[in-house]
Amino acid sequence: MVIVPGSSAIVPRAGARLSATPFQEALEAIAKPLEFAARDGFARIERLPELERNVADAAARALALFVPLDVKQRIARIEAAFGKPLPGPQKRAAVERALAELAPLRDPAFADAAIARGLGEIPGVGPRRAQLLAQRGLRSIADLLFHLPSRYDDRREQLRIADLEVGRRATFSGEIKVSDFGPRKGRQRTFSAVLGDESGVVTLKWFRGGEAVAAHVKKGVRLRATGEVRRYRFSKEVIHPEIDLLREGDDAGAAEGIVPDYPAWEGIPPRTFRRWVAFAVEHYSDLVPSTLPELLARQRELPLTPEALRRIHRPHPEADPERLRRRQTGAHERLVLEELYLLEVGLALRHAERAREPGIALDPGRPGVAAALAALPFRLTPAQERAWDEIARDLAEPHPMNRLLQGDVGSGKTVVAALAAVAAAESGQQAALMAPTELLAEQHARTLRTLLAGAPHLRTALLTASVPRAEADGIRARLAAGELDLVVGTHALFQSEVRFARLALAVIDEQHRFGVLQRQALAGRGPGGLHPHVLVMTATPIPRSLALTLYGDLDLSVIDALPPGRVPARTALLREGQGKRVVEQLRETLARGEQVYVVYPLVEESEKVDLRAATEQAERIRAAFPDVRVDLVHGRLDAAERGAAMARFAAGETKILVSTTVIEVGVDVANATLMVVEHAERFGLAQLHQLRGRVGRGARPGTCLLVARGSSEDSEARLASLLGSTDGFAIADADLRIRGPGEFLGTRQHGRLPDLRFADLVRDAKLVALAREAARDTVRRNPGLARTPDLARAVKTRWGERLALVGVG
Ligand code: ADP
Ligand code: MG
Repeated sequence: MVIVPGSSAIVPRAGARLSATPFQEALEAIAKPLEFAARDGFARIERLPELERNVADAAARALALFVPLDVKQRIARIEAAFGKPLPGPQKRAAVERALAELAPLRDPAFADAAIARGLGEIPGVGPRRAQLLAQRGLRSIADLLFHLPSRYDDRREQLRIADLEVGRRATFSGEIKVSDFGPRKGRQRTFSAVLGDESGVVTLKWFRGGEAVAAHVKKGVRLRATGEVRRYRFSKEVIHPEIDLLREGDDAGAAEGIVPDYPAWEGIPPRTFRRWVAFAVEHYSDLVPSTLPELLARQRELPLTPEALRRIHRPHPEADPERLRRRQTGAHERLVLEELYLLEVGLALRHAERAREPGIALDPGRPGVAAALAALPFRLTPAQERAWDEIARDLAEPHPMNRLLQGDVGSGKTVVAALAAVAAAESGQQAALMAPTELLAEQHARTLRTLLAGAPHLRTALLTASVPRAEADGIRARLAAGELDLVVGTHALFQSEVRFARLALAVIDEQHRFGVLQRQALAGRGPGGLHPHVLVMTATPIPRSLALTLYGDLDLSVIDALPPGRVPARTALLREGQGKRVVEQLRETLARGEQVYVVYPLVEESEKVDLRAATEQAERIRAAFPDVRVDLVHGRLDAAERGAAMARFAAGETKILVSTTVIEVGVDVANATLMVVEHAERFGLAQLHQLRGRVGRGARPGTCLLVARGSSEDSEARLASLLGSTDGFAIADADLRIRGPGEFLGTRQHGRLPDLRFADLVRDAKLVALAREAARDTVRRNPGLARTPDLARAVKTRWGERLALVGVG
């Protein structure tokens, strides 16, 4: 959090301090003079002539609050008792009674319990309607208060009927000229009425419930109506308008102001629902806690939550309906920031909980580590060095590291991770490097071999499904006996029953889907049941806002620059019918002795069709280039066949690799310089960017041809942003904006995306960062939230279960 100069009086507690609710403040204002009078056995009570007036005034102010009637009754009794000067003996009894009256209200749990009351508290909500609301997820007063309008009707001005615009909602009034039922259809009859003013007429129609309406809406009746105007043949009509009957003397033009509009539900007329929300606001809003540090709220000039709710549910007539609709007001920001803050506090608590766990302190300063670095054929880039520094510092701590290493494809994450593994092994412990595929595991083993030229005494092994059974058993036995220092394998390494004698570091590659729960699978696998250090690597450039919410409990290292000399792939977009250009590019690439990937999408529903298309394409390419070896890999091949094909390509035997699955994420074939993506419109943006990163990894620049064979608005937007940028993070942000967080992370991720009610990770990315900073600050100053039980309770209620928080509240 920003420290404001000169405000040192607030700052030390700013991270912890939340604003009191208006209700709490009002109660304390009443209680203070009473408690003062009661001090030291009422010793001073005779000398407090102002007591009655002070208490009565404070009570009168409290009566103006938006609190329930039962609360007001208690306070009114106090006000009445202190409304007149009291003679000595009565005074003492009155103070005692008043304090007893206040006691239950001052219990911190009172307000929480009050806003958790059922909706039956609201006049007009009986059991049937309460059930209807419950089906929509509205069970308590608080649910209703936080159920925001989807839009607002600007009813400050009425239109003349002749000026009604088709397609817009409007409010207007007039007199019923004629009304009539249409022919009966089943049990329903359409009821329509023609409403006219001096300028023209419009038809109002009810397809349902016409009988009830017809009882009031008769010729000659005046009424005001609101609804969306539609065209019907040569006239205008409004279906199911909201109406107000106007009586003699009513001003038809009386403004209703800006009226919130909640999603309409069958069985609950909008006006009725609005009345219920209004009741909840009127009687409960001042009980709602404001869970943001006061200082932050003040900096952003945010209203307290009670006031924010009132501004949202009953907007000021001067408010801007458009900003309200787009949820761009300070009131909305209060709710968004509060929601994000609670989440981030939860994540920060988890982070802190884990930072306290005992772990294994390693020594990355060992000579073997320096020797490994020196054995590299290149120098680390500054970005790699920074990441390595951060990791090395974590490893040296006697607490487990939990770090996400993020870097664009080809940025050189593996070397950094492998250095960490060497540091563990050199410290006399074990390290495991895990990749999502066998091929990648083999690649990591090669990287490790380069490094180990400088540390030849370390004992390593590669453990994948293709290792013969007997050999694999041997490796497992040696791991368990502590006779191996480093093991490289697939993710199955830690899922299966592999036992380690003293696992101190687990590196997990290409696994941005690796969440809190999976990390727990590693818990206690270290020596003596300690938690090993965990480093998760991902090339999926997760936008910062998402990383901060999904991985708020991880520390983040970013490698944000490619090794020198690496030129981003040139990207071109081709359309159906431009196949000739693809063939030309293929020929030129092969003529230079370089290799080519051709990638086909494969969606499960159309697997057969896609596979056929890819097979045919492979045949066509073979026919066109009879002198070179063309391989086809697809998901139906078994792992060994696929691995063999990939190995042939890596060795340069195969020149063109046609693939239906995305080329195994992360393969590193320096001689491949051309990537052709068929049906590019069917790939996600991040995926396309990753594919493009597969080429141009050697000295020669890469080219990526995206062949689009269809289009939609979304796919065009995706392709355009890919052509427009080579920055993985900019692309990921665009992807997130186009697809939304759920899609962005893939369906499997859905369950783990925090369900945010108000915040939008795309729109509110800046607020996420702000909330995170404030949350970390809070937890640093106020460990375990010991000093703020209200906040601890709020966090636990909202996120406790999802984040598996144990030591809170
Ligand atoms: P990724 O981050 O995608 O996992 P890799 O670790 O596979 O990237 O590295 C990509 C390629 O870049 C590898 O061939 C690696 O040897 C090479 N490389 C890594 N770091 C550097 C560096 N500092 N200078 C030059 N080449 C590097
Ligand atoms: Mg990699």
